[in-house]
Amino acid sequence: MRQLSIRSDAGVALAAGRISRVDASGVAEKLATSSTTVIDAQGAAVIPGFVDPHTHAVFAGTRRDEFARRIEGQDYLEILAAGGGILSTVEATRAASLAELGAAFARRATRMLMQGTTALEVKSGYGLNFESERKMLAIAELGVSGQQGHSPSRLPVVRTFLGAHALPAEYRSRRKAYVELVCNEMLPAAVKEKADFCDVFCEDGAFTLDESRLVLSRARELGLGLKVHADPLTTMGAAELAVELGARSADHLGAVSASGVEALAGSSTAAVLLPASTVYISGPSRAPARDLVDKGTIVAVGTDFNPGSSPVDSMPLVLSLASLIYGLTVEEALTAATANAAYAIGLEKVTGCILPGYRGDLLILDTDDYRDLSYRLGSRLIRTVISGGEVIDAPLSDGPL
Ligand SMILES: [Zn+2]
Repeated sequence: MRQLSIRSDAGVALAAGRISRVDASGVAEKLATSSTTVIDAQGAAVIPGFVDPHTHAVFAGTRRDEFARRIEGQDYLEILAAGGGILSTVEATRAASLAELGAAFARRATRMLMQGTTALEVKSGYGLNFESERKMLAIAELGVSGQQGHSPSRLPVVRTFLGAHALPAEYRSRRKAYVELVCNEMLPAAVKEKADFCDVFCEDGAFTLDESRLVLSRARELGLGLKVHADPLTTMGAAELAVELGARSADHLGAVSASGVEALAGSSTAAVLLPASTVYISGPSRAPARDLVDKGTIVAVGTDFNPGSSPVDSMPLVLSLASLIYGLTVEEALTAATANAAYAIGLEKVTGCILPGYRGDLLILDTDDYRDLSYRLGSRLIRTVISGGEVIDAPLSDGPL
């Protein structure tokens, strides 16, 4: 993860949305025809577009009240037990129309794109019933194809079914029935909606290890890739389960056990770290990032963008936090936010690298040194975003969540 391949005096040629050649600038320039757009990036560092491998970007409402309460000292699990947290977003999301949800998702995806995210994953999990979960997966698809009007049409979105995100209020005394609903009805519908992955929130107050195993095993039978919200705040043995079932990623890992770290090391399951939500949910839980990297785990970072524990849509911010909070070197953080993040959502042959055949996803920085991105927490240093070979040109306004 530390060995970046850095070229100086480089040129990148793009054709039909893909990288066709990476060479000396003079060589690349000679490939230009009269219809080629030539961008002079002299004096600027150019890096791959960011891949955000973990977001919950389809939802309605905000949770700013809860944020204020938490800052005053209430605990996240206390808020969850009192019917706040995820369930309040579920209520708002169920009530929202398709058009409202679609427009909100498109707005968020555009804002992410303007901050350099050229591919992302998005989860369902705020519907928690058959119709609303299907609606969420469909919206992520609509957002991608631009049918909602504002969406960047060239941003790949990987979709994850997260029906086992929280136990809905109407099933509070019928856990088993809800898990059966997820396995027998929602999962087959998610497959029909062409979801890529199935994820489970394995945590005290959400789903047990045994329930997680049931849902993930069924998803695997149905041909979905697997992801796990693994040991976020409580040690559950979920990282071990993720490796055992061949999951593509185990995410969070704030309370992962020593045996979980051992299982991840040397496995093909990526560890997705979410430093922004670590900042928002204070407590002792912090993923052993250094240990994971040093043992050779495929470590990626993402925003965990969601209205509760991480209303953060900026991968540059996450890049800085990965170094400041988790102690990743600047180079490791960049790899974690690009190539490894692409791997974590199955796009490792599509994006995350500047190599011929990959999507033309490039960021031209307003600095000659990529290390400034990590160094300058919160600064906007991306001069130009190129996504799928297209120069993205839109005014940046953060606007509503
Ligand atoms: Zn999450």
